[in-house]
Amino acid sequence: MLTYLAANSAQQCGPCRFGLPAVADDFTTLADGRATPELLDRLRHRIGLLHGRGACGHPDGTARLAASALTAFEADVDQHLTHGHCRRPTTLPVPPPARTEHRT
Ligand code: SF4
Repeated sequence: MLTYLAANSAQQCGPCRFGLPAVADDFTTLADGRATPELLDRLRHRIGLLHGRGACGHPDGTARLAASALTAFEADVDQHLTHGHCRRPTTLPVPPPARTEHRT
């Protein structure tokens, strides 16, 4: 989700051009089990730098999402730091599209 948000901006402002991709990369490293405590400190610092730096609220909202994820999934973050994974599925099934009846 953070990679999507980082990729879907005009990238005209500093936080969207540099900050959001860096935060998304750090989350990917964390999810892949390659993070260190230093990376997590850097990630929190980077998230804190995003607020109020863009011309619109896109980086602010993305930063809130990232910070919320670190808080809401704190136990999973710890598992990724210590064991490289949290044993949760990394992909989720996509439900099929709802059927619509065509009336003629
Ligand atoms: S901060 Fe807003 S206006 Fe600036 S590049 Fe990001 S999305 Fe575009």
